[in-house]
Amino acid sequence: MSKSLQAIRGMNDILPEQTPLWRYFEGTVARLLDNYGYRQIRMPIVEFTELFKRSIGEVTDIVEKEMYTFDDRNGDSLTLRPEGTAACVRAVLEHGITGGGQVQKLWYIGPMFRHERPQKGRYRQFHQIGLEVFNLDGPDIDAELIVMTWRLWGELGLRDAVKLELNSLGTSESRGRYREALVEFLSAHLDKLDEDSQRRLKTNPLRVLDTKNADTQAILVDAPKMADYLDDESRAHFEGLKARLDAVGIPYVINPKLVRGLDYYSKTVFEWVTDKLGAQGTVCAGGRYDGLVEQMGGKPTPGVGFAMGIERLVLMLEALDKVPEELSRQVDVYLCAFGEAAELAALALSERVRDQLPNLRLQINAGAGSFKSQFKKADKSGALYALILGDDELAQQVVGFKPLRGQGEQQSIAWDALAAHLATCVVQG
Ligand code: ATP
Ligand code: MG
Repeated sequence: MSKSLQAIRGMNDILPEQTPLWRYFEGTVARLLDNYGYRQIRMPIVEFTELFKRSIGEVTDIVEKEMYTFDDRNGDSLTLRPEGTAACVRAVLEHGITGGGQVQKLWYIGPMFRHERPQKGRYRQFHQIGLEVFNLDGPDIDAELIVMTWRLWGELGLRDAVKLELNSLGTSESRGRYREALVEFLSAHLDKLDEDSQRRLKTNPLRVLDTKNADTQAILVDAPKMADYLDDESRAHFEGLKARLDAVGIPYVINPKLVRGLDYYSKTVFEWVTDKLGAQGTVCAGGRYDGLVEQMGGKPTPGVGFAMGIERLVLMLEALDKVPEELSRQVDVYLCAFGEAAELAALALSERVRDQLPNLRLQINAGAGSFKSQFKKADKSGALYALILGDDELAQQVVGFKPLRGQGEQQSIAWDALAAHLATCVVQG
C-alpha cells in the first residue's frame, strides 16, 4: 500500500477483535464512576494552543515538544488535546459550574495526542479515562480517588500487579522554599549534571528529580528532601490521606522523587505503576492542583484528579490473562433460513424473539446459502445454538434448535415457545 494510505505512526486502529476488551474495560470503569457519584463531561478534542501553554506550563515536555499544533484557516493556533485536565477546567469555568464553591465530580474518556516516540504502551494517539473533582480541598477526596482505583484493580483482577506510589509536593509556598533549596544544592554540582538536568535546573528544577540519568541520580541522593520542607498544612493533609489508605488497607510506598510531569500539581501526587509492561509502567497518575483554576483565570478553586491510560491497562489485562472468558463469544444464537418464504418467517420470528429477550445476541443469516454454508457460518460465529427454518419447519410453525457446542440433539420448538426456551438456555448479560 502506498504510504499516504497508511495510518499515521503511533496512531492505531482498534480492530473488532480488540474492541470487546476495550468495551469491557470502559464499561467497568464507567459503572464504578457512576456508583461513586461522578458525572461524565465531554470536551472538544481541539482547543486553543494557549489553553495548554497556560495550564500545563511552557517548560514541560508536553508543551515543549509533544503537542500537535496547527493553524486554523483564520490563523488561530489550535492544538489536539494532549491531556484532559486543561479542557475540563476551561469548560467548568466557561459554564460557571464551579462557581460559589459548587462541588463537581466529573469524568471524561477519549483520545489524547502527544508526539512521542511510539513503542509498546506509548503512542501518539492514546486514550485516557480521567476525572477531576472541584471545590473539595480535604484529603478525604484524594483518598476516594485512590480507593476507587483500588476497587477497579480488584474488579479487573489486577491488584497484585500494581503498586501505589505517593508523594506530597506541598503548598505552593512550601514548594517554593524547597525549590530554592534544591536549586542551591544542584547549582553547586552543576558541571556534573546531565545536559537535560542543567537545562531543567533553570526552567523547572523539580523535574530534575525524575531524571533517568544515573550520574545525576547519584548526585540526587544527598539532595534536600521535599518532605523536610512541607508546611504543617501540607503535612496534615498528607497524613490524612495516608490514614485513610491505611483504614481501607491499601498498600503504598512513599516516593520522594515523584514530581509528575506537569506544572500544576500541589500537595498529593500519586502513580499506580506496574512491572508487567516494561518501561511504560505507569497506568494511572494524578494529584491535587489547588492553584490551577485561579492560574487559568477563575476564582481560587481546589482541584484533584487523575488519568489512566486505556492502552496500557488493556495490555496488562492481556499480559496477565485477565480477559474474561465470555468476551470471546459475541453471538448466542444463529438463525439459518432456507428459501424466500422461510426467510420472511425467520425475520418476523427473530423480531418477536428480540421483543421478548432484548439482551439476546441473535444473528440472523444474511446472503442465503446452502445448508452447509449457513451451518459453517453459524459455527464460525461462535454461537451456542443454531436455529433452522426450512420449508418443513415453516409448514409446522416450528424451528429446529441445534446445540453447536457439545452435547444435545436437535429438537423442534414451536415459534410461540421459542423465546421462553432460549431464556432457559442462554445466559443473558
Ligand atoms: P509517562 O511518564 O509514561 O510519559 P505521563 O506522566 O506523561 O506518562 P500523564 O500525562 O500523567 O502521563 O497521563 C496519564 C496516563 O496516561 C499515564 O499514566 C499513562 O497510563 C497514559 N499515557 C500517557 N502518555 C501516553 C502515551 N503516549 N501512550 C499511551 N499512554 C499514555
Ligand atoms: Mg509523558
